[in-house]
Amino acid sequence: MIDFINVSKIYKGSDVKALDDVNLHIDKGEFVFIVGASGAGKSTFLKTIIREEVPTSGEIIFDGESLNMMKPRKVPFYRRKLGIVFQDFRLIQTKTVYDNVAFAMHVIGAKQKDISRRVAYALSLVGLSAKAKSYPNQLSGGEQQRVALARALVNEADVIIADEPTGNIDPEMSKDIVDLLEQINLNRGTTIIMVTHEVDLIRSYNKRVIEIKNGHIVSDTAHPEVAEGTEEVAQEAVANTPSGYYHAPTEDAEIEKFLMNYGNEPLTDDGVGGFDMDSSDENL
Ligand code: ADP
Repeated sequence: MIDFINVSKIYKGSDVKALDDVNLHIDKGEFVFIVGASGAGKSTFLKTIIREEVPTSGEIIFDGESLNMMKPRKVPFYRRKLGIVFQDFRLIQTKTVYDNVAFAMHVIGAKQKDISRRVAYALSLVGLSAKAKSYPNQLSGGEQQRVALARALVNEADVIIADEPTGNIDPEMSKDIVDLLEQINLNRGTTIIMVTHEVDLIRSYNKRVIEIKNGHIVSDTAHPEVAEGTEEVAQEAVANTPSGYYHAPTEDAEIEKFLMNYGNEPLTDDGVGGFDMDSSDENL
């Protein structure tokens, strides 16, 4: 499903290889943990999958299509295949739980009837049907992350990309979130790529673990017990602040703009893109 072929990435103005000759295959339906210290290249790895960044050399193939060659106007359509979950939830504070999830469907121009049905289903999958009318600040961290997960799922993404999704929630809730990801993976066949620092969490699941160091993949193991050295790496990573993936848009308007980038058309300079701002839907 995803192939990295000799992928290297050097950012403009930098001489550091954020990714250094990465070769990798992730199959449809796999569940993969990505670990590595701060600055190792994890965010760059995710950004190239999301097509936020293009490799300096090498190639990334997604379902047989080269991401390098993809025309900018096709990128939002490609991104519909991806559901993204962030450490800091990125929920729109002025919208209810229902509307936060529905927004992701509006952005892609879904019909109202499909929106009602699928939002209800996505919320039931994450166990939050009863909280549909609540606002994010009325929910616990774990619940907010489940809303974000429902939002990532609602458009039936083929791949969930979770960037430290348990970093801001307590350990018990963290397990709930990974359990949910596991269920989604097993029941729906959704591919899961999850970046995490939490070694104990990795150990309690029998999943593939890929460790990145200085832009290289230094280990890629089917089972966490053989991922030697992972603990030190993860401890080191915890000691560092998480990198600023996506420049942490925490304002509602920025979150909306980010989500619109997954819509019908690339955003224009004024940020409106293909999204109908005058939607007559009362839910939004
Ligand atoms: P991680 O997510 O593992 O913390 P990153 O992918 O953010 O690592 O960073 C990998 C390397 O690339 C680091 O050396 C970092 O400083 C560098 N880097 C990341 N983003 C940029 C950027 N936009 N411009 C220049 N260098 C960058």
